[in-house]
Amino acid sequence: MVNLDEVKTAQHQISGLIHKTPILTSALLNERTGNEIYLKAEHLQKTGSFKIRGAANAVKQAIDDGAQFITAASSGNHGQAVAYIADQLGVPTTIVVPEDANRAKVAAIEAYNGNIVYCGFTSADRIPKAQQLAEEQGGVYIPPYDHPLVIAGQGTIGLEVLDQVPDIDIIVVPVGGGGLISGILTAVKETNSAIRVVGVEPETANDTYLSLANKQITAISGTTTIADGLRTSQPGQLTFPILQEFLDDLVLVTEDEIKEAFQFTLERTKQLIEPSSATGIAAVLSKKLKAEKNKIAVILSGGNVDLKQLDRFLPE
Ligand SMILES: *Cc1c(COP(=O)(O)O)cnc(C)c1O
Repeated sequence: MVNLDEVKTAQHQISGLIHKTPILTSALLNERTGNEIYLKAEHLQKTGSFKIRGAANAVKQAIDDGAQFITAASSGNHGQAVAYIADQLGVPTTIVVPEDANRAKVAAIEAYNGNIVYCGFTSADRIPKAQQLAEEQGGVYIPPYDHPLVIAGQGTIGLEVLDQVPDIDIIVVPVGGGGLISGILTAVKETNSAIRVVGVEPETANDTYLSLANKQITAISGTTTIADGLRTSQPGQLTFPILQEFLDDLVLVTEDEIKEAFQFTLERTKQLIEPSSATGIAAVLSKKLKAEKNKIAVILSGGNVDLKQLDRFLPE
């Protein structure tokens, strides 16, 4: 398992490559929820999501170990993060994306000088392709969550929150493959085990919820949740045991609750976050997270939104 020392090492490794993101507050959000809410603004992070933290840690290590080429398989935030950081560190990248990848997302990767290879429609098509391209050209494939250096990199958010919000009671974290939350659990629980860490998933992408209930990794078949960063079909081999050991609670939110939270955040706090991040706000606004007069950090994990889709993210 990843440990606190590895998260501290990651913090040192990536400090010059990322932003230390601010904490935002909203009096209205405090009033509505009956708690003190601290929003960790990773939507203001470089490339618009926290994914740069794990990517920077893993890509930097790969290059230090002699890699001359980096690949990833993602048209989303992970693909952008890997392309950006490899470009910053002067190494070429190829990002394998689905045949039907969104044009705006492909353009963002290309803007960071990532080469695009189109392959199939599922991650089961893309991952072997990205691994094969890496192998053929003396490169390294960087996975989105199931990798110790990626988990340790994401965990640096936990260290920042502990530093920025003294006496925090609860940290609320969206869950996809579980890299973000397992990194935060590693950073926080070894430092102060009394702090509660609570995950959030969309009801229709409840693979981690089911896996915890079944006490084994359990896959779901496709979901169409608007929280597209949380559409993974199952938790990771490395992330799941960390959740099993340390996670305090996992809350499920509906698509309507995500839309309400998205609208609230945009209208009231003026922050444009992506639906995946709105799940954390949904957990506190809906009061599905049971807490009163607590200091709660909510991780706003990313802000990459295709503005043409805005309508789909708002309540009817
Ligand atoms: C990837 C991602 C998540 C989920 O992170 P995991 O490490 O896969 O659990 C949440 N929000 C956003 C914006 C993401 O890009």
